[in-house]
Amino acid sequence: MPKPRCDLYFPNTNEDPVLPHTIFTKGGGAQLLLPSLQGALTADVVIVGGGFVGVSAALHLAEAGKSVVLVEANEIGWGSAGRNAGHVAPHATKLNDEKLNAVYGPVYGPRLAKVGAGAPDFVQDLAARLGIDISVVKGGIMTVAHTDAAAEGLKAEAARLTKTGAAVELLSKEATARVVGSDCYRAALVDRRGIAINPLAWVRGLARAAMLRGARLYEHSRMRGMTRTANGWRVVTGQGEVEAGTLLLCTNAYTDDTWPGLKRTIIPVRTYLAWTKPLPDRLRESVLVGISAMIDTRRVPVAMRLHPDGRLQFGAGVGFGAPQQVDLAVAFRRLKDVLPQLEGVEVEGVWNGWVTRGIADGWRIHELAPGLVTAIACNGRGVAMGPIMGRELARYVSGTPRDELIVPLTQPKGIAWYPFYQMFGPTALKALKMLDKMEMARRA
Ligand SMILES: Cc1cc2nc3c(=O)[nH]c(=O)nc-3n(C[C@H](O)[C@H](O)[C@H](O)COP(=O)(O)OP(=O)(O)OC[C@H]3O[C@@H](n4cnc5c(N)ncnc54)[C@H](O)[C@@H]3O)c2cc1C
Repeated sequence: MPKPRCDLYFPNTNEDPVLPHTIFTKGGGAQLLLPSLQGALTADVVIVGGGFVGVSAALHLAEAGKSVVLVEANEIGWGSAGRNAGHVAPHATKLNDEKLNAVYGPVYGPRLAKVGAGAPDFVQDLAARLGIDISVVKGGIMTVAHTDAAAEGLKAEAARLTKTGAAVELLSKEATARVVGSDCYRAALVDRRGIAINPLAWVRGLARAAMLRGARLYEHSRMRGMTRTANGWRVVTGQGEVEAGTLLLCTNAYTDDTWPGLKRTIIPVRTYLAWTKPLPDRLRESVLVGISAMIDTRRVPVAMRLHPDGRLQFGAGVGFGAPQQVDLAVAFRRLKDVLPQLEGVEVEGVWNGWVTRGIADGWRIHELAPGLVTAIACNGRGVAMGPIMGRELARYVSGTPRDELIVPLTQPKGIAWYPFYQMFGPTALKALKMLDKMEMARRA
């Protein structure tokens, strides 16, 4: 058989339907074990996708008195919501405020920056109101500079944030070494507003709260098609269908071809996370002291968080296409370059999920057609911003004028070089890692 020229692999339909075991399984609460959709239902709103955006939209719509049906292809939280690192940074996207203004304009940029700054509070307040135990770890999110230039960047960012009254601290090289447990960094910015949580408990808790308020949620009910009807939209699953005035597509990195062209607006990047067995006491007291989580400034960053039971969670690589058998020894060596004292510690497990990179790296709400809306992109800040975007979708459906939302309603734009990303992505990744390595070597 001729070898295909380009072995394209897409998230969603080609993935293992079982949610992987992660460091969050314990503490993530019981599975919801919801039935699949059978027969024909009607609702005000039908939601496709049971991640943060979808369950939050269901919750906020139910609270606004709308009748809601949500269909999830696998189980609630099966997508990125149940697979992420659980860092909750006080930012709406990975862009700083200046870039936010450039991308979103002078009205929506500052609005988004304000919402992002309050994101950890939003999560904690909503979890408290709904009685969800999300195992909050306080202390702050620490960004660590791997070069002098990156340290200068953090200094400027610290000065800017301090002017806004944010609780941030700029750490010297020595102070950074004491917190991280490694002397290989130049400086650090600790944003004390940031927290870390158990994201699986968060998404399942939001789903339960939505159901308690009357939303009808179905698992193992993949949308197989959607059609316009006289009154709105019909969503068809394997054994059922829902007709509703409004359809919300909340499938993000796992978006399929059901709506032509939507998938081409994002680049899904497979991200691997791993965790160790509990560190010995002497290490626990000297690694990531007093902070929730850290990430360094490399292009392919090292990120980690120490869980209260002593297990260390860390990034184990990124990739494209089908899941790879991760060489954990190689991934762990990269971490041990930073923390050589981890020698002898054992890695316990690894999992992966898809992070979307939008073209401008920010959340988008697209009105795809009358009554058909999606919130998509910027996967890296989804633990707080996903539920916030779900709330925004609910506000829009409930009658909030479009110009009062936190992002403008837009039309999707396809990425020009989309067909080639799986071919060139791995090469680009190698080049980025090489640049990181050269910079790390130069710093010594
Ligand atoms: C490894 C990793 C680490 C991350 N770390 C962080 C972090 O530390 N902090 C942070 O803020 N963000 C992080 N993120 C990003 C964050 O997890 C996402 O932004 C967030 O989960 C997106 O939520 P969502 O609801 O938009 O999408 P998802 O949670 O991915 O949900 C989409 C759902 O749609 C369903 N679906 C797709 N197609 C269909 C269909 N046809 N029919 C029915 N259902 C369908 C899928 O099954 C899936 O459950 C990380 C992501 C990954 C993968």
